[in-house]
Amino acid sequence: MDYKKLAELLYPNIKNTIEYYENEVYPKRKLPAGAKVTRLAPSPTGFIHLGNLYGAFVDERLAHQSGGVFMLRIEDTDEKRKVEGAVETIISSLEFFGLKFDEGAGIEGETGNYGPYFQSKRAEIYQCFAKHLIEMGRAYPCFCTEEELEEIRNRQVKENVNTGYYGKWARDRNLTLEEVEKHLNNNEEFVIRFRSEGREEGTFEIDDAIRGRLSIHENFQDVVILKTNGIPTYHFAHVVDDYLMRITHVVRGEEWLSTLPIHYEMFKTFEWETPVYCHTAHLMKMDDGAKRKLSKRKDPELGLGYYRELGYHPESVREYLLTILNSNFEEWRMENPDSPIDDFEFTLEKMSTSGALFDLDKLNNISKDVLLKIPSEEIYEFLLNWANEHKKEAATLLSSNKDEVIRLLSLGRDGQKPRKDLMYCRQIFDFISYYFDEYFKIEDSYPENINEEEAKKLLLAYLNTYDHTDDQSQWFEKIRIIASENGYAAKPKDYKKNPHMYKGHVGDVSTVIRIAIIGRASSPDVWELQQIMGEAKVRRRIEKAIH
Ligand code: GLU
Repeated sequence: MDYKKLAELLYPNIKNTIEYYENEVYPKRKLPAGAKVTRLAPSPTGFIHLGNLYGAFVDERLAHQSGGVFMLRIEDTDEKRKVEGAVETIISSLEFFGLKFDEGAGIEGETGNYGPYFQSKRAEIYQCFAKHLIEMGRAYPCFCTEEELEEIRNRQVKENVNTGYYGKWARDRNLTLEEVEKHLNNNEEFVIRFRSEGREEGTFEIDDAIRGRLSIHENFQDVVILKTNGIPTYHFAHVVDDYLMRITHVVRGEEWLSTLPIHYEMFKTFEWETPVYCHTAHLMKMDDGAKRKLSKRKDPELGLGYYRELGYHPESVREYLLTILNSNFEEWRMENPDSPIDDFEFTLEKMSTSGALFDLDKLNNISKDVLLKIPSEEIYEFLLNWANEHKKEAATLLSSNKDEVIRLLSLGRDGQKPRKDLMYCRQIFDFISYYFDEYFKIEDSYPENINEEEAKKLLLAYLNTYDHTDDQSQWFEKIRIIASENGYAAKPKDYKKNPHMYKGHVGDVSTVIRIAIIGRASSPDVWELQQIMGEAKVRRRIEKAIH
């Protein structure tokens, strides 16, 4: 068979050689030794998820820790899955979480010398490389229809052999030039298949940077590399693009491990060095005591929109992701509580291979610590931005009460045992919402030992003795007096000693006051809150509780 002739017959319009692309268009990058080039290669489906972010962090760290390049390539070869605006969503979501690309697809066009970065714009390149494989005798056109493939499959099932297009089952593997011409003259559609030389029982070894040495089965299937429309499959586009774009490390989900043999055989066929593969583990969660994969259908927390809608600070998400990305991160953080997160040296070896466990409670806990380190003024700005996008009516209140809100956010955050009240914007707004009359409501009930009438009596005494200029100890002293005058122990320990002598203790009285003013049984220090709220509001709320 004259393969050159076959190639020419199929792709007469492709005039470039692969050397042209390799040497002139995409020459080796000039980077310092050890610099890593990574890419995020999402499909523009409009759904950007935690898995993308997880992988993107790995890409970003590898590139930026080594003085390399972090690139965005859009894998838009599947027309059906394309969604308008998806690229903007990808870029803006990742940017929100602090990940910036050095090269690739962008909102205002592309940057970099290794484009185009949209696979849909690279058809001619893939065809050139496919033509080259045809010339080598390592790819061929296949004219089988869906029905014919189905029939092959049925026979394989019946004979109890491996299904697929390979060996003697590959009907068009050995068509003559004349037969190909005949099919073409009939205007039959065709795909291009890779001609595998792998053995059905064969295995080979490959090092995965996360999983270590793997021994896996060889590919023996003649997989499709170009579809009937001349657009490549993932397998082919991955190999050609990652080679030409000079990617050193391919970070992708473990779902690609099963097709790694195909990619490996193609790299070998072209005599190209394989990139370092880094197959990340699935993100898992605990569900009813069992570990399972996070699912798009069941788990809203899989989508990145979830975190933005709730208003998680990007620093919190970043900090949390690192705890699941690298098993030694938490230890490092304990030893370096105040270091910037990028000082931590991320390594592939410390990544999980058995499924990274995602846990929202843990994210919340980490977020409390992260927010504690962020100045209240900054939290205020972040909260306001969030409200502008996700809770408009709150934004107006927040901006017209800026100073007070900043003071509210600062409460109890200094000192030895700082309060850790703040987690994410929606929760933060709820947490301070009592301040605004528009949101204030009585949420908790008075202590069990105090009925409505008794509470009113205590509150009246409070109102009558209230002096907004009292300092904190004068203020509390007055509450002690109200307590003892009304049959409550002025100190909890007195009550503990002789409970039968009292109706309760000073803590119960404070709780009544707290509920009247804030609506909740627990909150930061009431005296400080009153100072922020101002005298008129405090009096108004107590009066309301009395009447
Ligand atoms: N487009 C593929 C995906 O979204 C990319 C996989 C890869 O990174 O190679 O899963």
